[in-house]
Amino acid sequence: MLKWLKSRIAKKNNKSAAVKNKGAKKAVVKKAYSDSVRIIPRSEHGISRKNIDESALKVLYKLNKEGYEAYLVGGAVRDLLLGKRPKDFDVATDATPEQVNALFRNCRLIGRRFRLAHIHFGRHIIEVATFRGHHDDSDSGRQDESGRILRDNVYGDIEQDVWRRDFTTNALYYNIADFSVVDFVGGYEDVKNKRLRLIGDPDERYREDPVRMLRAIRFAAKLGFSIDESCQRFIREEGALLRDIPAARLYEEALKLFHAGHAIESFQGLREYHLLEHLFPDAAEALDGNEVGLKFLHLAMQSTDQRIHNNMPVTPAFLFAALLWAPLRTRTEKRLASGEPHSLALQKSASALIGEQVRYVSIPKRFTTVMREIWSLQSRFSNRKGKRATALFEHPKFRAAYDFLCLRAKAGEIKDDDCRWWTEFQENSPEAQQAKIEPQRGQGRGRPRRRRRTKSVKD
Ligand code: ATP
Ligand code: MG
Repeated sequence: MLKWLKSRIAKKNNKSAAVKNKGAKKAVVKKAYSDSVRIIPRSEHGISRKNIDESALKVLYKLNKEGYEAYLVGGAVRDLLLGKRPKDFDVATDATPEQVNALFRNCRLIGRRFRLAHIHFGRHIIEVATFRGHHDDSDSGRQDESGRILRDNVYGDIEQDVWRRDFTTNALYYNIADFSVVDFVGGYEDVKNKRLRLIGDPDERYREDPVRMLRAIRFAAKLGFSIDESCQRFIREEGALLRDIPAARLYEEALKLFHAGHAIESFQGLREYHLLEHLFPDAAEALDGNEVGLKFLHLAMQSTDQRIHNNMPVTPAFLFAALLWAPLRTRTEKRLASGEPHSLALQKSASALIGEQVRYVSIPKRFTTVMREIWSLQSRFSNRKGKRATALFEHPKFRAAYDFLCLRAKAGEIKDDDCRWWTEFQENSPEAQQAKIEPQRGQGRGRPRRRRRTKSVKD
């Protein structure tokens, strides 16, 4: 309670300081931009406030009313120009995080290196970033734990802020003061021409943060944009730079690539630009020239994309299980050839494969556990009788494993009789299901199976 009271008093004090600055700030709003700017007036660009998130509008208006510059920025402006619904609405301002914090009761400051203000509206958050200033060149090369170049917490003006952004199309600012779009780098034309162009020298900007290569693939896949010639060349030649990026950050990027409703196009982009081998090296090798494997993966991605478009839940485990299925099969077959029993060969191959994979893209354990379950259930679908069939049907991952099995059949990897049988089975009433899996007299194995005395093998 005391803590809360203290924070309210601090906010109040800050607020009066912020209000005191009001007069000075008002002049900034009217500040002329440099000659390189292009202002696209409301009458030209077609962005309507109807399509801007209500909470974002509240934040923009409030900042503006208090005398600060306030812009909607980044992907939101780009998507609005394209007539798409933005994923999130980010705000940029000349108010410092502390000044923003003083204006909004529902504000929390986050970030250590660069402070950001998060304004909470229930579960919905509007991120407000203060314009970033130019960095000191001696800083270049130092990276944080997620592989991003470290910059000091230096604030700047809108024209400096442009330089911290990646593509021209992501550096457009929608000004709440007059509803114009402010463009310093030709992003407006690039949106119209559906072109991805890095701001500044591609070589320097990609080296500064190699994840931008994956962002290029993602935006090209999501928006149907073409990648600028010089960017293309760099990505094709320097994909290995991704090896310097921590596996946890690459996992986040991989999820954005595959779970945004455009997995097929993203995957094609990764293959075309030879980036797959730096993210999923075993999959890249096992899928090379493997038509059935590629068809299966294509079907898995198609079904993921469809589910996302239909607002149905998706789990990363299914997609990563599909992506690593081809290399898992290659490894398992090698072990089978050396005489190992099937389940042991599969388990050992899965452990080795996952162990190596997470050094590149670190799939969290809660998902690798499910991936292993999906894989190991595959060989159990041919058991359609008795307790084994019941146990399979009642397994928590039955549905995922069954979907996986049917995609394998559809791709031509296996015959489709198991998939057909289990499909029909699920359409039956519980009584009919029971009758179907009950062991039938005369159709058993003839003589009872001998119990094995040896302990079961575990890895
Ligand atoms: P999405 O539709 O996927 O949200 P977005 O363009 O909004 O696309 P975000 O990852 O949400 O992308 O980032 C918001 C903005 O921050 C970007 O538009 C870009 O201006 C800037 N940005 C984000 N990541 C980077 C990066 N790695 N390098 C440079 N600028 C970046
Ligand atoms: Mg965004």
